[in-house]
Amino acid sequence: MDKIVLLGSTGSIGKQTLDVCRAHNIVIKALSANSDVETLEAQAREFLPEYAVIADETLVKDLKTRLADTEIKVHGGEKGLCEIAALPGCRVVNAIVGMAGLVPTLSAIRAGNDVALANKETLVTGGKLVMDAVERSGVKLLPVDSEHSAIFQCLQGAAGNKFSKIILTASGGPFYGKNLGELAGVTKEQALAHPNWAMGEKITIDSATLMNKGLELIEAVWLFGAEPSQIQIVVQRESVIHSAVEFEDGAIIAQLGSADMRLPIQYALTYPERLDCPAKKLSFEDLSALTFGTPDEKTFVCLAAAKRAIEKGGNAPCIINCANETAVRLFLDGRIRFLDIGDAVEESLSEVKFIANPTLYELLDTQKSAEKFVLTKFGLSK
Ligand code: NAD
Ligand code: MG
Repeated sequence: MDKIVLLGSTGSIGKQTLDVCRAHNIVIKALSANSDVETLEAQAREFLPEYAVIADETLVKDLKTRLADTEIKVHGGEKGLCEIAALPGCRVVNAIVGMAGLVPTLSAIRAGNDVALANKETLVTGGKLVMDAVERSGVKLLPVDSEHSAIFQCLQGAAGNKFSKIILTASGGPFYGKNLGELAGVTKEQALAHPNWAMGEKITIDSATLMNKGLELIEAVWLFGAEPSQIQIVVQRESVIHSAVEFEDGAIIAQLGSADMRLPIQYALTYPERLDCPAKKLSFEDLSALTFGTPDEKTFVCLAAAKRAIEKGGNAPCIINCANETAVRLFLDGRIRFLDIGDAVEESLSEVKFIANPTLYELLDTQKSAEKFVLTKFGLSK
């Protein structure tokens, strides 16, 4: 098995990836985090990688001091992330949150490394650049997101038959069935209380606004070469059916399992092999019901905005993604209200400059413009 370079090892996906590596003695070549030096140090001491990278460059010295008694090489910044992503002959797990994952993903692909991708913002913001790079270098882009892993697994037995439809399931989040009036005063604590999944804070808020499903729709368009109109979003309250595909003849193949990310993470690490997994196995006897519904796009405007953005193309998905990243940060900091997130995302689409065929440089510029738009909208400076 390839050695693993793990970007974002201190986060929710990062820690669960290490759980899988522990269970199967998978060798870690490099670990990285944004600013959590303490956790990164502990992980480095356990897994003894060749490299440990801290993205926040002001913390490089601290990490070097902490690991001075080891052989581990310490680097910093985006440059450090790109260096480890390009180490020859490795499988790169990208568990970074946000558009910060895009450049390291491109670095891995260009170096010829297979990528297990949890960082959906990579494909939302730079889908075309990424898929073009994948085609040029011939690497595998293996989905980690549970829905996309499910779709990928459903397609394994397709024998070249193309799906007619992708059924992308959504839990509906903590506010399913609520109206705008009920959502006006919701708190950060309420928004962070996801019914089925324990995840990082940003994606948990995205699940509450349904932005997450919008980002996942865009992710599926790029990963599976689907038209947006071929993707049907269905609420599956229990998060047992992780997604499904429908073929020409009407047959639907679905993937089911417990709500535990270690299964999709492991499949992306060991693909095409299946090994025993530390995740709890799903038992049909324990299921009392499977409940389905339709997402309410009038209330959860982020989902509608994401659909408009992928139809529009160009840098539009990058615009709404980056407006959302800024708005979620402001909401988590207690500076704007829950419904402000949707307003910011919707308005960004017409307020930030559209570019039909953006370069990487133009996407990074779009990120700055979208952030500036949101801050200005709320009269904030950073
Ligand atoms: P998290 O916030 O728990 O962890 C994020 C990790 O990225 C941390 O290790 C952090 O140090 C690192 N990081 C943050 N900003 C960075 C930067 N600017 N540069 C370098 N590193 C940085 O997030 P998470 O919940 O683990 O999610 C990670 C990604 O996986 C997201 O894109 C999310 O949408 C996706 N995802 C997560 C889950 C889940 O269950 N948590 C499920 C599906 C998809
Ligand atoms: Mg998902």
